[in-house]
Amino acid sequence: MNDCIFCKIVRGDIPCHKVYEDDDVLAFLDISQTTKGHTLVISKEHFRNLLYVPKDILAKVMGAAQKIAQAQVASLGAKGVNIINNTNEVAGQTVMHFHVHVIPRYSNEDALRLEFNSNKIEKLSLPAIAEEISKEM
Ligand code: AMP
Ligand code: ZN
Repeated sequence: MNDCIFCKIVRGDIPCHKVYEDDDVLAFLDISQTTKGHTLVISKEHFRNLLYVPKDILAKVMGAAQKIAQAQVASLGAKGVNIINNTNEVAGQTVMHFHVHVIPRYSNEDALRLEFNSNKIEKLSLPAIAEEISKEM
């Protein structure tokens, strides 16, 4: 894609701080560095997001994400890691080229805030929801 910023990074038209590369996958430091070592793992081929990535490429991206997480723990002294994918604008996706964030965690007080609120769960029918999802698979 000509105007995609991550495709430009894959082509070398825009510089990046590369962490890992193979035939299908590229990983580089996120420019925002939410925490020290915050890395993006992307497919080299352009897919809009997780919903469109072929399974074999997804497996390669996640395999690289695991390696990077292990390296962040071993080299940077991270005590944990969040692996995050944002799919579509409603979920916070701003760059429309599939990528996974690998964010090392050093403390609960660092710059990443993740909150899973369950305050409305009692109004939902869990058996019905599970059935809705599973029948599409
Ligand atoms: P998302 O919100 O999940 O789409 O994440 C996109 C991420 O790409 C953001 O965290 C940005 O900081 C990061 N980003 C955008 N442009 C660049 C760039 N040129 N180099 C590295 N990271 C970038
Ligand atoms: Zn792209």
